[in-house]
Amino acid sequence: MNAETAKHALGTDRATAQLLAIVSVAYADRVRCGQPTCGHSVYRRIHVVRENEKLLVLGSTCFAKRYGNDRALGAAHFGSGDGRVLTDEERKLLLNNTETLIAQFEEEARLVQAAHSKLAPANLPPNPANTSARLPAAHFPQETPWAWVKPLTSVIYLKLKDGSGWIRAQRKDDQHLLLPWPVFEGWDEALPPLFGPIDGECGGHILPDVAAALRYLRSQSEWETKPGRWRDVMTEIASNTRGAWPPRPR
Ligand SMILES: [Zn+2]
Repeated sequence: MNAETAKHALGTDRATAQLLAIVSVAYADRVRCGQPTCGHSVYRRIHVVRENEKLLVLGSTCFAKRYGNDRALGAAHFGSGDGRVLTDEERKLLLNNTETLIAQFEEEARLVQAAHSKLAPANLPPNPANTSARLPAAHFPQETPWAWVKPLTSVIYLKLKDGSGWIRAQRKDDQHLLLPWPVFEGWDEALPPLFGPIDGECGGHILPDVAAALRYLRSQSEWETKPGRWRDVMTEIASNTRGAWPPRPR
């Protein structure tokens, strides 16, 4: 690729760019981010954008880089923007026929709107942009959001100098896992091999050696919480980040 073409490929057209949907697929079904210089595989919060008549499939990090920040294009046109998990059928469309997938979303939205206007004309669904208000720390759930975590075990959070954050949690089979928190694009390629293989269902590394993993993280970390229950750790993160919660990934 010559310099001129490279420049063109990287050029964005914000004027025409429209965020259509934010979707997710299983880790095992992850797809390539469409940002020319990226090459990461992505599976959570995949951003589908129409730019200059073309559909782009971008990881959340590249979306934010390409358009300035993660809200640069406003709310997603279809869906609530929560990164809903695609069905098998939809996932195939995302890969092979994104236009058809978007047409399906369009049709769904039409049906939903028709149903709403019939049932409760004055009672529109809440705007997701208004419901994401920050909760006070005390409102963090007592337990982790993950069903695979062994009850009554502790978690710990480490914030690295590169901006990423990681949570160590214990699985019901006593295996320790390390998860990106929040999830960011390329997390599965961000740490050296000592962190072990990825468990796609849990979305983290299966740690072969917890002590070695923590030693490495501490050599790279800015700060860490005390080990504790989910609510306590979340509360400590919130107070350490002084209102900037949830933190932005790199
Ligand atoms: Zn990317």
